[in-house]
Amino acid sequence: MSDEATGQDPAVEDRFETGPIRPPSEAGSYLLRLTRGCPWNRCRFCRTYKRRKFSLRTVEEIEADIDAMARIRDRLAPAGVAGGPRAAVRRGVVTNDYEWMVANALASGGRTAFLQDADSLVMKPDQVRRVLAHFRERFPEVERITTYARSRTVARLSVDDLRSYGEHGLNRIHIGMETGHDPLLELIKKGATAELHVKAGRKVKEAGLELSEYVIPGLGGREMSEGHALDSARVLNAIDPDFIRLRTLTLGPKIPLWEAFHGPEAVLTRQDDAEIAAEIRRFIEALEGIHSRVVSDHIMNLLGDVEGCLPDGKADLLARCDAFLDLPEGDRRLYQVARRAGLVNGPADLSDPGVRARAEAVLAEVVRTYGPGRIEEACRDMMLRFV
Ligand code: SF4
Repeated sequence: MSDEATGQDPAVEDRFETGPIRPPSEAGSYLLRLTRGCPWNRCRFCRTYKRRKFSLRTVEEIEADIDAMARIRDRLAPAGVAGGPRAAVRRGVVTNDYEWMVANALASGGRTAFLQDADSLVMKPDQVRRVLAHFRERFPEVERITTYARSRTVARLSVDDLRSYGEHGLNRIHIGMETGHDPLLELIKKGATAELHVKAGRKVKEAGLELSEYVIPGLGGREMSEGHALDSARVLNAIDPDFIRLRTLTLGPKIPLWEAFHGPEAVLTRQDDAEIAAEIRRFIEALEGIHSRVVSDHIMNLLGDVEGCLPDGKADLLARCDAFLDLPEGDRRLYQVARRAGLVNGPADLSDPGVRARAEAVLAEVVRTYGPGRIEEACRDMMLRFV
């Protein structure tokens, strides 16, 4: 829920459920909750649903949510949400969190929707189709519907079922592959193997749906870096997904995987930013024969500008990694701090004198607080603010 709304109590029939997360690319989408939590909930790098019990929702509950959203859309659309939901709150058009969420989607065009939570396709295929059909009936203007799904769940579905979801409006599936390196998949308790990822990914493609696969740079530490980079590329080469999205590892003491890197049970050594950038370079270099778009759309990624389409953009993607790796030591530190402070997207941004001056001020403050030898640690602390 947003804290932007005025906090007025909505009518009971206006209420609908939403889950805690969606991909950054769905920031302006209608959020429709099919299930609560994650049916697996064991991945060691993930805390999103750790304290929540997984549950299915009934089709009737979900349809009631769709109807509530449609009613709010019908009420808000004529009043207009120009300027976004904050402006609509100021004008008194939006008065509660439910209206805020619908206004947010409308302000982004009202053409996209995202199904929550972690593994929506774990619902029975008939039920998924009924939900999609009802959504399309009430929201015929929506052009893109996407969802998260686990490889294990997708691998169990038939291509015909997946194709039928496409016919009912589902366009894209986001799968957290994380890595294609089997020893690392086992260590992080992903509940999937490289083979299973390939099977699931190929099914999605065969069904004619778009596929987004997520990779976590830094996940295997120094010890598994090479296997992680090369096997992840090998698996993706076998799938040819539409999107390959980078999500750099973010570790805090409350994340179960922390123990694999720290303390008496540690088996992995954390990489610094330069090592992770080199790992990404190695990974991209090994991507061959595919037509995916590499996307770096998360604030946790050091290099936000490593984006482009394969195969033609490969040289450019590698050059963007090199732009950081080739920086002199002082500029590298400056860039790291500037990125973690949200001032830059890629090393080229440091050539702007204003940006550079602000970055230097942040670096000076970091050095005052942490000392000159602890920039890496400072950057990790800065990253944790976003967790
Ligand atoms: S499958 Fe996804 S949501 Fe579930 S525990 Fe793993 S990373 Fe978290």
